[in-house]
Amino acid sequence: MTRASISLGFIVDIHDNPVTTTWLEESVNRYDLVAVGGDIGDLSLLYKVVDFAVDKPVFIVLGNHDHPAREVFASKNVLHGTSTKFGGYTIGGLGGSLPVQGGPLELDETEYFVLSKNLGPVDVLISHQPPINTKTDLSYDSSTETGTRNFGSVAIRKYIEDTQPLVALVGHVHESPGIDMIGKTVVVNPGPFMTGNYAEIKLLNREKPTVELRSTEIRGAR
Ligand SMILES: [Zn+2]
Repeated sequence: MTRASISLGFIVDIHDNPVTTTWLEESVNRYDLVAVGGDIGDLSLLYKVVDFAVDKPVFIVLGNHDHPAREVFASKNVLHGTSTKFGGYTIGGLGGSLPVQGGPLELDETEYFVLSKNLGPVDVLISHQPPINTKTDLSYDSSTETGTRNFGSVAIRKYIEDTQPLVALVGHVHESPGIDMIGKTVVVNPGPFMTGNYAEIKLLNREKPTVELRSTEIRGAR
């Protein structure tokens, strides 16, 4: 049975924000489901977040900066080309990013094609790397005529076009917070939690989810 309505809190690009665990503790009481979209930070915070998620409706994907430790992937709350069920919804995750700075978890387009094919259709996609050509993946690139470029993935866009999740929760491109549509899929980049940004999503059965971009009062050190 799919519940009529589920509330969801989403953070991404945490980059060692010291208020992360406080936000998580508050958010598991406030929301039915919490999604963490990667670039969590150093290993100690990564382990803290993964440990916190055990037996809670908190689902995590790793970012390109997160160390892909084996014991982290062993957690059933960490999704990477895998999915889980919650309240009748299927939640799936794609970790890492396209190659940027030689981070510990980088995948090329071919690897994203394979990973997303293996994932199969989901209702909620959590993907650190955004799809290409939306309001959520635009950043600066001095080598282009416009000075900007879309940094998203072709493979992830194709996956979203083909399978149409209700919502795709993305990040990675800090400069491009926003909400956009790919067909019926709402694509959400809340902007980095490093500076307190997060998103609130309401899943309304199979209808278009509502999304609000918010900023927390509990600020990080940066
Ligand atoms: Zn980041």
